[in-house]
Amino acid sequence: KEEKKIEFKPRSGGEAAVLFKEPEIIRIPEGITIRDLAQRLNIKAKSIIQFFLKKGKLLTITTTLSKDDIDALADEIGFIPEYTSIEEDILEKIEYEDREEDRVPRPPVVTVMGHVDHGKTTLLDAIRETNVAEREEGGITQKIGAYQVVHNGRLITFIDTPGHEAFTQMRARGAKATDIVILVVAADDGVMPQTVEAINHARAANTPIVVAVNKIDKPNANVERVYRQLAEVGLLIEEWGGDTIAVSISAKKKQGIDELLEMVLIVADLLELKANPKLPAQGIVLESRLDPKRGKVATVLIQNGTLHEGDQFFAGLSTGKVQAMFNDRGERIRSAGPSTPVEVIRFDELPEAGDMFQVVHDEKMLRKIIQVRREKQREEIQKRQRIRLEDLHKRIEGGEIHEIPIILKANSQGSLEALQKAIAELETEKVKINIIHSGVGPITSGDVMLASASNAFIIGFQVRPDHKAREEAEKEKVEIRFYSVIYDMIDELEASIKGALKPIKVENIIGSVEIRRVFKIKDVGKVAGCFVQEGVIRRGSKVRILRDNIVMAEDEVVSLKRFQEDVREVTAGFECGVRLKKSKDFKAGDILEVYEIVEKYD
Ligand code: GDP
Repeated sequence: KEEKKIEFKPRSGGEAAVLFKEPEIIRIPEGITIRDLAQRLNIKAKSIIQFFLKKGKLLTITTTLSKDDIDALADEIGFIPEYTSIEEDILEKIEYEDREEDRVPRPPVVTVMGHVDHGKTTLLDAIRETNVAEREEGGITQKIGAYQVVHNGRLITFIDTPGHEAFTQMRARGAKATDIVILVVAADDGVMPQTVEAINHARAANTPIVVAVNKIDKPNANVERVYRQLAEVGLLIEEWGGDTIAVSISAKKKQGIDELLEMVLIVADLLELKANPKLPAQGIVLESRLDPKRGKVATVLIQNGTLHEGDQFFAGLSTGKVQAMFNDRGERIRSAGPSTPVEVIRFDELPEAGDMFQVVHDEKMLRKIIQVRREKQREEIQKRQRIRLEDLHKRIEGGEIHEIPIILKANSQGSLEALQKAIAELETEKVKINIIHSGVGPITSGDVMLASASNAFIIGFQVRPDHKAREEAEKEKVEIRFYSVIYDMIDELEASIKGALKPIKVENIIGSVEIRRVFKIKDVGKVAGCFVQEGVIRRGSKVRILRDNIVMAEDEVVSLKRFQEDVREVTAGFECGVRLKKSKDFKAGDILEVYEIVEKYD
């Protein structure tokens, strides 16, 4: 019997949009319901429901469709879905009048970056102290993650969390908070690895750099050397024919600060930074915290529009209403315009640094946004692709993975060092290996959580996870690999990274057996009275003796008995007597880990 095709009927009174002659691009906001989609396509919602029913999915008019669902429907009807984020959709729907004549210059937002100890914090403090006093009398300065100073009657906003982690973390989340980077280079130390990193981060973000050559008060300060080293990494200072401005300063002696601010303003002028204060506020969360008295608060850098008391907003997964807001001097303010950092009270959940902040006046829409977001987050967590050795090669070749984060646990400092060295040599042009944590001892749940957060996998060399860690690894889907021989580990990792040509030997743990008593039998030696906790133990099985999750020895079962009788195997829940080939050093409480080796191709 031939399948009946579903007819996508136009909605009453509408045009027959059904069957687009040419595939049409339809904008689809995340979390769209069947009803809304039907409206956008101008077809009856019922026909969409039927379409999915035929595929075995019972949906209703208010069901939120997933991307896969929409793709399937698009294939059937012949439209091209263009997915938009909910913010994009909302901003489009709320028709703010962003007229050119309403756009006015706004203060630049500056981040200070540079190598550790080159004076970032000292500079930020110096700027704040020397220039904050110029403003009208205020309260005590508050550390809210950003502050504003006045120079020659013009405002400059500084983000107070130095370092490129914060900068990059925001960028990783698609947010750009910084207009200008001040790159601090200590004149007595010169360009260092993090200096280069900062340059690269700023370049990647297309953010102009003003160089502050710091610590010129030091006797061994050498400004020319800094210029030369910067040129070597491709940053040409004006005096050297480039277009990067450099200022010599001493953050400690507060020298050169005014000139530095002057230069920042010159660069800012070139950028022609503008914003429209008439719009509802939009910004970025710089930091958030739980205040014992005031609840969930966050510092928001307003990027466009003006934030008013009473405004409703969302940021990341949280919503809220501005009950009160405070500036960087702890003063309560009623409104905050572009480039102003404000502490906002209060959020219903703590937002994260880098979350976009958006005022939305329509409460229903606000609730809907959050609902969609939370669903999406849940999906993402479930889908999060773990790094697994098995598909590593494919994902490296596909350009999906450029770095393999590894957590390394070993039974001794010596083996840890040997492993670190051996692993470092496995790096290729395509993939870096990053040992994010290493240590001596069993694998703990802390290791597993770290692996989970960084999408790393764990290598246990002669060590095992404790019970809790094992459970968590299972739950978080973190891969743990065990090795006893360095060469085995190298072979397997190498095969996984470069693609295996020969079969890799994979270990399967097939049983766990607890030693409960130890007997000494004349002419035979030591025999272990055991209980099989999990799986199976066989005569001839390879075993490892574990004591407190550390591997004590490798061995083999030479004889296996139940009630004096030789048996070939004993399964979980039964007792047995085990004699090992070599080891004599085992005791009650030790665990025999039973394993076999299978060969596998990539
Ligand atoms: P950060 O790690 O980049 O934030 O560096 P800090 O601001 O903490 O400064 C590191 C050290 O350098 C501190 O001991 C500062 O007192 C010192 N320092 C910072 N700026 C200057 C400077 O201009 N001259 C001198 N002599 N020391 C400085």
